[in-house]
Amino acid sequence: MEKDCIFCKIASGEIGTEFLYESDDIVAFRDLNPQAPTHILLIPKKHIPKISEIKKEDEALIGKMIDVANLLAAKENILENGYRMVFNCGKDAGQEVFHIHLHLLGGRKMIWPPG
Ligand code: AMP
Repeated sequence: MEKDCIFCKIASGEIGTEFLYESDDIVAFRDLNPQAPTHILLIPKKHIPKISEIKKEDEALIGKMIDVANLLAAKENILENGYRMVFNCGKDAGQEVFHIHLHLLGGRKMIWPPG
């Protein structure tokens, strides 16, 4: 746990946030500033600043985050129409919170390429 990391505080329960999913190593909650009707963030409890910094030992964790995102997509009824999963990494991608998080976005038609 990093003392000044907002997502560490959310994951540990220090900041009260409603979880849509919680396990030993992952939590999911709704984004504060949703960019789509469904906008969920999935984070590991372990503090990893950027997706570029994952180690071999994190492979299963990242796979699990994707599994849980698919599970939540089904719960949100966006499985059929489709959805997007995004990891922003670093400044050019617009990463604001330096604790990895998987955005699950859906419920509207999206454009490509993204802005
Ligand atoms: P990124 O730009 O990929 O770093 O995304 C960070 C996301 O975290 C943004 O979509 C914010 O709206 C979201 N966010 C920041 N603080 C909170 C919070 N306390 N609860 C929920 N979402 C948050």
